[in-house]
Parts: sequence; structure tokens; C-alpha cells
Amino acid sequence: MLKATRQQTKRHNLRLVMRTIYNDGGISRADIARVTGLTRPTVSRIVAKLIDERYVVETGQGPSAGGKRPTLLDVNLSSHHLLAIDLGSSEFRGAVVNLQGEILQRLTIPTGGQRGDEALDLVRDLLRNLASMANAPILGIGIGTPGLTNPDDGVIREAVNLGWSKLPLADLLSKEFQQPIYVANDSHMAALGEYTFGANREDRDLIVIKIGQGIGSGIILDGQPYYGDGYGAGEIGHVVVEDNGRKCSCGNYGCLETTTSTRAIIQAAHTQAESSPDSLLGPASSLTWENIVSALKAGDPAACNVVQEAGKFLGVAIANLVATLNIHRIVIAGRVHQLGETFLNSALNEARHRTLPSMVADTKVSYSDLGSDIVILGSSAMVLKQELGVI
Ligand SMILES: [Zn+2]
Repeated sequence: MLKATRQQTKRHNLRLVMRTIYNDGGISRADIARVTGLTRPTVSRIVAKLIDERYVVETGQGPSAGGKRPTLLDVNLSSHHLLAIDLGSSEFRGAVVNLQGEILQRLTIPTGGQRGDEALDLVRDLLRNLASMANAPILGIGIGTPGLTNPDDGVIREAVNLGWSKLPLADLLSKEFQQPIYVANDSHMAALGEYTFGANREDRDLIVIKIGQGIGSGIILDGQPYYGDGYGAGEIGHVVVEDNGRKCSCGNYGCLETTTSTRAIIQAAHTQAESSPDSLLGPASSLTWENIVSALKAGDPAACNVVQEAGKFLGVAIANLVATLNIHRIVIAGRVHQLGETFLNSALNEARHRTLPSMVADTKVSYSDLGSDIVILGSSAMVLKQELGVI
């Protein structure tokens, strides 16, 4: 018992020192002791271990505070690589990432609608290729997946589109790759990515709404991802927002995914183009996402109408999130960022009508600047958090 406690303390102290060097690079041993409250011999011993394992390097000397000039320490960002994967709906994207979340190499494979074991084989292929591209020891592997997923054991309870049910993904992959493997829902990973590498790092609370072919959200509470009792926290895509709406893939009618997913927006634009043949959306038969974006930018009323309608239903979801959690920072991720202020303002207007306007006024809603890398960066952050305790 005593031994376990001592080991836990050692691990805690090691992570504390690593986190301090990671966050305040160019720091001396004496300053680490001061910041962490650990004794100087303890700090020196831990730093020696971190240097030995190549996580930390001495980078030079700082200014003297009277005596000898102190040696400064930094994290050796290229000492280890990690592998991160985003299991998107039409492609699986992977990357080799350094310890600072910089993407060094990328690899993407189209899913071609593969499901079940075939989809699992694609994940294995992607990982094998990524592993061969890394030119430093691998720290771990992070995977963002659709569906309900337990991040503690890496079991995907249900990912309908991939045909996975009760799939122990982390266990299956760790057998082959002999690496620590972390699996979580892609929206939860996106939230961790935004919290760690996004533009608003001072916010301890944060919601990321990820809009693609599906819609989900991830919640960070006091700096920690909140998963929910059944790992479905933030699963807003299948909340009904439109009475008598269109049929959803889940079997219900009028879910947020039927009004505001990229697929739903293209479908709505298609209908709009048919009834407004003069609009800049162009002919309905060949309409693409890019047509909607360019028509919107040119101020086409039909395109504007489609985007405002989709934004309005997002506003319903935002009103519910604001009223439930009262978190002041909401970040929208996905290529809907191309719909600009028209989409955001429509959502905010609707949210204001549906809950206390002052609560909405206090809430800042913006687009993520992490682009399509947000899940990859979140999966990287998960590995850094679990393996090194630096986040
Ligand atoms: Zn649904």
C-alpha cells in the first residue's frame, strides 16, 4: 500500500515537472522548484530522468540572479512522435504529430463506404503506414471516432455508420501496435483540441459544436472533458428541432442533423435552386457545397435563405446548451465556417428568442481556427494529457 502511494507520488511529481517545463519553456531547475513547491534535489532527480528519456533538453544559460548562471530547460519537441486519427464519414485522416501538436506528416484514405471489419482493416492500414512515417519513438496513438465511446477503456459502444457495436478498438489495436491507445468520440476530441491548441486557451469552460455530415458537441468543464454518464454528453445531433421535419438516419423526424448538417444544407439548397431557377446557386442537378458558398458570398438571396434557415435550427441547440450549462464560450467547427456571419448571426438571433437574451449576449460564439485538423489535434492532446500529463 505504502509502495503504491510512493509510486503515485513519484508519477505525480514527474508529470508536474514535465507540465511546468512544457508550459514555461526555458525554465531553470531552481524556478521549477519554486513554481511546483518541490525540493531542489527532487526536481534535479526528475529532470535527470526526463533528460535521460530525451523528453527534456538543456537549451542554454539564463541571466544570473547574483551567482552562477542557471541552465535552462525545454521540452525536446521532436524526441517522440504520436499518431492521431480522425475517423471521418467519407475518409479516415491520420497524422504524425510532434509533442507540441505540430502536424509533421499526413495520410488520408477514403473509406469508400466500408463498414464493420473492413473499416477496422482500414484503420489498421492507416496506422501501419503512419507508424512507418514516424522517425522518432512513438509516445501513443489517439483516435477520434463517431459514436458513443468510453474513453477509459477505448470501447466503442455504438457507431452506426461504421457498423461497429461494442467494439474494443483500443484493445484490438494495442495488441498489434504495442502502444498506448486512446479512443474517444470525435466531438469530445474536437473539444479537447480546441481547448489545448485553439485561440481561446484562457477559457476553462468551453463547448465545441462540430458540424459535418453529422453533428455533435464536446464539453470542457474546468479544463477537463465532460463525457456524460453514458459517454453521450453533447450528443445534440439527434435532438428534434423541427416539428414535422425530414426523416433522420436515426429513424426520428426533424433532428438537428436533418436541418443543419452539411448534407442537409446541400439538400435544402437543392430544393431552393429548383424553386428559384434564377438564383446564383446554379442548376439543382449539379449543385455542390462550393456553389452554396460562392452564391452566399455574392449575396444571392436564395443561398442566404438556405443558410439562415440552417443557422436558425443551430440556434435552437445553442439556446438549450446556454440554458443548461451557461458556458460563455461556444466554438463552431467544420466547413460551415465558410458560411460566415450569415450562419452565425441567424443562430444567435434564434437563440436569443429562445432563452434569456442576456445569457446569450454573454455567450461568445465563434468559428474554430483549427480547420479540418481539429479532431487530429484533439486526439494528439489526449495522448499528451494521458501519457505526459502536460495538459
Ligand atoms: Zn436523428
